[in-house]
Amino acid sequence: MTTYTISDCVRRVRDNIADACARSNRDPSEITLVAVSKTKPAQDILAAMDAGLRHFGENRVEEAQQKIPVVTANAANQPVWHMIGHVQSRKVRDVLSLFSIVHSVDSVRLAEKFSRLAQDQGVILDILLEVNISGEESKHGWNAHNWQADALVREQLWADIAQVMALPSLRVRGLMTMAPYEAVPETTRPVFAGLAALKAELNQLLGISMPELSMGMTNDYPVAIEEGATIIRVGRAIFGSRT
Ligand SMILES: *Cc1c(COP(=O)(O)O)cnc(C)c1O
Repeated sequence: MTTYTISDCVRRVRDNIADACARSNRDPSEITLVAVSKTKPAQDILAAMDAGLRHFGENRVEEAQQKIPVVTANAANQPVWHMIGHVQSRKVRDVLSLFSIVHSVDSVRLAEKFSRLAQDQGVILDILLEVNISGEESKHGWNAHNWQADALVREQLWADIAQVMALPSLRVRGLMTMAPYEAVPETTRPVFAGLAALKAELNQLLGISMPELSMGMTNDYPVAIEEGATIIRVGRAIFGSRT
């Protein structure tokens, strides 16, 4: 069995990103690769930094509290930490102190809490709105299943998003979704296309230009890039499988 180093894996992911960009007439510099380091030790993160990565995603506050200081103490440059997991209300303060951007804001209440604390601290927090395009019940996020056809879904979504947009200390940078795991990655294409169309619609409705689409993981990031992803969240393809 061949064992690949983290740097081999980063190179392969970068090649796949370049190929997906070539197929869809995009420039690889438009894509931010977030290395999802959940469950992996700080030393793996440092190896990925040596391979040129700068953005890391974690999904649990307790784990981030252990690892981030270790990386901070040992890295020459500081990485950008992305919170990608569901945030419990009582963890908002910790998330704000640890992370630069939160991908997983999934309710008005949570957004209000982030905004209130950010305002107290005199900071602006970058967030993405997590939406559930697939309709899978196990997924977090605003219900956006079938949003193009379902006026009630749109009505609720527009109302909630308008409330979040009005909050003072948040900068809404875009949308995030998790596609269902599919044996054939191509099957997820409509989920990614649905998120891209939703971003375009919101930008037009609100007269804004939210730039980011966080979509695509190990299983399906090339498809996500073809559908307009600007941020991909890749774990296993970089760090190996998780136990
Ligand atoms: C774990 C996780 C990922 C990465 O998944 P891989 O299959 O390891 O690439 C991406 N996004 C979220 C929200 C995750 O929890």
